[in-house]
Amino acid sequence: MKIVTIVGARPQFIKAAAFSRKLSELTDWEEILVHTGQHYDSNMSEVFFEEMKIPKPSYHFEIHGMDRGEMLEKMQAAIDGVIQKEQPDWVLVYGDTNSTLAGARAAKKHGIKLAHVEAGLRSYNLEMPEEHNRVETDQLSDVLFVPSQNAIDNLKKEGLEKGREIVNVGDIMFDAVKFYASNNAYENESQPYALLTLHRAENTDNQTVLRRLLSTVNKINEQLPVVWPMHPRTKAKLRELEIPVEAKVIDPVGYLQMLPLIQNSKLVLTDSGGLQKEAFYLNKFCITLRKETEWTELVDLGVNRICGSDEDKVLEAFQYFTETPFTIKANPYGEGDTAEKIIDSLRLYSV
Ligand code: UDP
Repeated sequence: MKIVTIVGARPQFIKAAAFSRKLSELTDWEEILVHTGQHYDSNMSEVFFEEMKIPKPSYHFEIHGMDRGEMLEKMQAAIDGVIQKEQPDWVLVYGDTNSTLAGARAAKKHGIKLAHVEAGLRSYNLEMPEEHNRVETDQLSDVLFVPSQNAIDNLKKEGLEKGREIVNVGDIMFDAVKFYASNNAYENESQPYALLTLHRAENTDNQTVLRRLLSTVNKINEQLPVVWPMHPRTKAKLRELEIPVEAKVIDPVGYLQMLPLIQNSKLVLTDSGGLQKEAFYLNKFCITLRKETEWTELVDLGVNRICGSDEDKVLEAFQYFTETPFTIKANPYGEGDTAEKIIDSLRLYSV
């Protein structure tokens, strides 16, 4: 069985690490890993391949630094070539980036079976390019690997259960947390701190929003030091605006350093999808700096509050979470055996 897996952005390297490690234990599968080059800084790409022992991509393109339309076109053309040459049984894509959608379009152009990991997630915010990537990828897929019952409900609302297989496999990022958190001896910050990440276009590309968020972060930093591994896009925007940052800014870190940064934090503030769940898996509350989340179960459980860039909401959530013990044990996202479940289903649906 031959599978072409498409990655390109940081969260996909982490998901691929969990899946490819399991797949590589099997002798009857050949995985051809394709890196589109969407993320290219060494601390946004290479570090994950090295630290997490992800196989070196068989194809590594350099497609970045252009608008979405052009990026999708170039990526699809590149992946087309790979599919033509490799003639795989499956194409597998993760998440919601441009690389995801380009891989999906290329697979379908060639009539190759397409599997989408993290299917069925919706923000219902069509201003996010990620939402467009998710919806179209789900429409093109043959097998939809969802992380939760909510995701199945979302797909059904769009009539996407027809003609496709939907399999609830749990969250592949839980596999990664389970494996790497217990195989990791990194130490970090000795003082109590809050951990912050910020990179969504809705926050970084709107000056008013970014200024407001920065002012809120500075206020939190007066009560609890904020550690901020800063995404290159955010760094570039802040440089343009010349906004003073009082938090402790560090370069983006590898996953093996990120996990203890979460584990040792008091709480997490983020606009990242992945980090919302990692905070939960590692028993930390999360303040989500977005107007909605795809991971709504966490809000229902009371461990995540959606605050957007509303300073009052953020400060209120901060106050509450710093005074409340984290006691939630339920996990709506499976057992951390998602990779095995995906492989079993791929076998089943290969025939
Ligand atoms: N992450 C990391 N180093 C950092 C910041 C984030 O390893 O400096 C990890 C984080 O733990 C999570 C993933 O990157 O696993 C999330 O990626 P990102 O926030 O870029 O994307 P999203 O999840 O929002 O799609």
